Amino acid sequence: MTHKSIPYGRQTITDADLEAVVSVLKSDFLTQGPSIAQFEEKFAEYVGSKYAIALSNGTAALHLCAMALNVNEKSRVITTPITFAASANCVRYCDGEVYFADIDPATFLLDIHKVRALLEKHPKGYFQGIIPVDFAGNTVDLEAFRKLADEFGCWIIEDACHAPGGYFIDSKNKKQNCGNGNFADLAIFSFHPVKHIATGEGGMITTNSKTLYEKLLLLRTHGITKDASKYQNTPNEVAQGGWYYEMQELGYNYRLTDFQAALGISQLTRADENLERRRAIARKYDEAFKNSKVIRPISFEGNAYHLYVIQIENRLGLYDHLRANNIFPQVHYVPVHLMPYYKQFGNKKGDHPFAEGYYDKCLSIPMYHSLTDEDQNFVITTILNFIK
Ligand SMILES: *Cc1c(COP(=O)(O)O)cnc(C)c1O
Repeated sequence: MTHKSIPYGRQTITDADLEAVVSVLKSDFLTQGPSIAQFEEKFAEYVGSKYAIALSNGTAALHLCAMALNVNEKSRVITTPITFAASANCVRYCDGEVYFADIDPATFLLDIHKVRALLEKHPKGYFQGIIPVDFAGNTVDLEAFRKLADEFGCWIIEDACHAPGGYFIDSKNKKQNCGNGNFADLAIFSFHPVKHIATGEGGMITTNSKTLYEKLLLLRTHGITKDASKYQNTPNEVAQGGWYYEMQELGYNYRLTDFQAALGISQLTRADENLERRRAIARKYDEAFKNSKVIRPISFEGNAYHLYVIQIENRLGLYDHLRANNIFPQVHYVPVHLMPYYKQFGNKKGDHPFAEGYYDKCLSIPMYHSLTDEDQNFVITTILNFIK
């Protein structure tokens, strides 16, 4: 008998979610209505930032961050090879150059020592920015990255897609939530269905900078403003009526719809309990694999556990074995520097040995808040049966 299918990640939609969406669908505004501002306010409160800007997806969020920070053909930006391609692509959208630095093999995160070494190889001002990623829900020490970035005049975009609700402990023993804007200039999140909060497609930028916030609002909607205090045309060019607006920059339509925002607000009310569930699932995996050949991810309190990534010698064998049992693991990620698109810039195999070594063995096994105990037990036994 085949077991029901168990993916590596998935969303849950409750009746309350459905009601929230339907009520917006029945209202006057499908987009640009009141739900967007509410979602932004609640999300900012959740992560502890001053501002939040809802966007059509996480990639759009990254693109606007790069634009707001003036990435251009002269910009050089450092990121990790173990991430989703979008973390690097946002620099390319603005014609900047992407540099990769290797990961720390213990945390799978961008290695700050490798970043420092890369920064020190060039005169100050050579690099403009750093994009660290809270990979798998493991949180970057942004306090340390901020110090380094300041030393070299760089900005920081935190790709926090994997870590809403995650935190690290700073040098003063204080909890620092991912995306709270205390260290990174900008942080981005995604609400794709495999992430913690699902709106279908959807994204968010958080920041504590009013200047960046205002710029992002403009870029989200074509670069158009209706704020009379900001008009650049002369008073006699400005029409004498309420219809007038100005396009001041080349922006985009990267807006989220109101019914998606309503879904986001409803999902956010369960974010804490869902995160607790993810942490409980992780503890159970940790315990189950303790005395096995499975290499477990780093576990600590602030981990948001977007993924549970194990490492194993016979990864292909385990991957096929799990799929044969209707369990669908995934590999996160094929290193970005080895993508044909990035190879054309001179990146090649051997450049980042820890990232490549990690990639040879990594496998993301089921991790989502609605994973039942029964299904998790089945995943564990199927894995242990294979490796014994
Ligand atoms: C999902 C994800 C993105 C992109 O988000 P989308 O909403 O799918 O565009 C970017 N970076 C990371 C690390 C992600 O996991």
